[in-house]
Amino acid sequence: MSQGKKTYTTGFGAPVDDDQNSKTAGSTGPVLMQDTHLLEKLSHFDRERIPERVVHAKGAGAHGYFEVTADVTKYTKAKFLSEIGKRTDVFARFSTVGGEKGSADAERDPRGFAVKFYTEEGNYDMTGNNTPVFFIRDPLKFPDFIHTQKRHPGTNLKDADMFWDFLSLTPESIHQVTILFSDRGTPRTFRQMNGYSSHTFKWYNDKGEYYWVQYHFKTEQGIQNLTLEESIKMKGKDPDHATRDLHEAIERGEYPSWRLEVQIMTPEQAREYRFDPFDITKVWFHADFPPITIGRLVLNQNPKNYFAEVEQSAFSPANFVPGIAASPDKMLQGRLFSYHDTHIHRLGPNYHILPINRPRAAVNYYQRDGFMRFDDNGGGTPNYYPNSFGGPEPNPDFAEPPFEVSGMADRHPFTHPNDDFFQAGELYRRVMTDEDRDHLITNITSHLCNAQKRIQLRQTAVFYKADPDYGSRVAEGLGLDTKEVKRLAEMSQEDRAKATGQ
Ligand code: NDP
Repeated sequence: MSQGKKTYTTGFGAPVDDDQNSKTAGSTGPVLMQDTHLLEKLSHFDRERIPERVVHAKGAGAHGYFEVTADVTKYTKAKFLSEIGKRTDVFARFSTVGGEKGSADAERDPRGFAVKFYTEEGNYDMTGNNTPVFFIRDPLKFPDFIHTQKRHPGTNLKDADMFWDFLSLTPESIHQVTILFSDRGTPRTFRQMNGYSSHTFKWYNDKGEYYWVQYHFKTEQGIQNLTLEESIKMKGKDPDHATRDLHEAIERGEYPSWRLEVQIMTPEQAREYRFDPFDITKVWFHADFPPITIGRLVLNQNPKNYFAEVEQSAFSPANFVPGIAASPDKMLQGRLFSYHDTHIHRLGPNYHILPINRPRAAVNYYQRDGFMRFDDNGGGTPNYYPNSFGGPEPNPDFAEPPFEVSGMADRHPFTHPNDDFFQAGELYRRVMTDEDRDHLITNITSHLCNAQKRIQLRQTAVFYKADPDYGSRVAEGLGLDTKEVKRLAEMSQEDRAKATGQ
């Protein structure tokens, strides 16, 4: 052995004498069970893969910091937001949603935009996307929606029928579908896209007053997208292009950054607003609630080990800190359960003590045991509460201010008097340029053309309801009869579904 090199050991620390030749009976003979190094090596390898995330499986991450640039103490008592200039360490992960762990970064898909703030009051996780809205607004629909974006149960192929069947029968999706099929559905890199909380959150101050907020992380690299053609080429040329770009930019010292803007709404404004502020398929118009810049996110350090830091990172919108709480947004309420639950499945019940997830704040609690408990497990300190042996005590000073809820327990549909088409129409009519609209129509027709004609008609009627020009151009692109699309658009959702074969 050359001098200065460490001796190779087994996982249990015993020296390994040879790692090239299995122990056999004679030079050609069968392998001996007593080659325990071989057995350990093979059995560990057999278990190297953990379940991939059911959504957001392919991702890249980086470390960095968040810096406060404005005084928000009148809105929230969150300590990490308490002072201009204050910095908090973060870990961010970007991802595609529907594809598997090896899928191409250039797929048309929303991008996950998750940030873990290691604050002095515990971890605060922001689990957003690069889109300000979402396809559905009730968590009961989530598993069905995701099934349609993944693979057909029979063929194991991506399937345009199920993709568009579900969306056309769920017209609340039209706003997100319009964003997804614009070129923002294929961001050029992770650095060149915005991140949005999409959900509304509650901020409360030390007087117990509360506000509703939405976060917008605006890229300081500028928005850049791939066109349809560029994204198709990129998938073949470099399926990992965005992962590579993030890593290489940070290695070069070009640290990506985002400006954090927030929109803030008082409880009175929320009651009167023309849109339901807790409906995740809607935005709050900027003219109604002008965004305020409050901070800056900078990513300046690559992970040293992908599995330890990126794959094992686990974000949950349920990780709040004092001063920040949930809103009644139904999708958010579902995610408060689902993220923690899926991490327990993927990483085990002690995933919160993995180094990447471990809070920097002190953890004093009564949870003990479980698979892979690799810290001191609380030693001999009490594992029950209340106790008279000096165990940690709850502190009512950290309570979220009480708030009123009322109403009949039932399965309530959304009844807010706004429609699901107006904001998508505004994006099409008012925000998009001629070029954006041209690309949108091509991006849609090149995908929707693969679905059955009755599904094409139903979905095109939904585009028509957002804007007649939008629907007509999709109809033309698909060779559909615009009059028939218009007729379907004028029907109720139920009649349209029946007329198109539901
Ligand atoms: P504005 O007219 O004030 O601004 C337009 C917004 O749209 C900008 O934030 C811009 O982002 C964003 N945008 C531009 N192209 C696209 C696209 N293809 N997909 C998604 N977003 C895009 O916005 P309003 O508040 O008046 O809302 C009008 C429409 O803009 C909404 O119906 C919604 O579709 C969209 N929008 C609104 C947001 C909001 O929070 N109010 C957030 C994002 C989009 P950027 O500044 O980064 O270029």
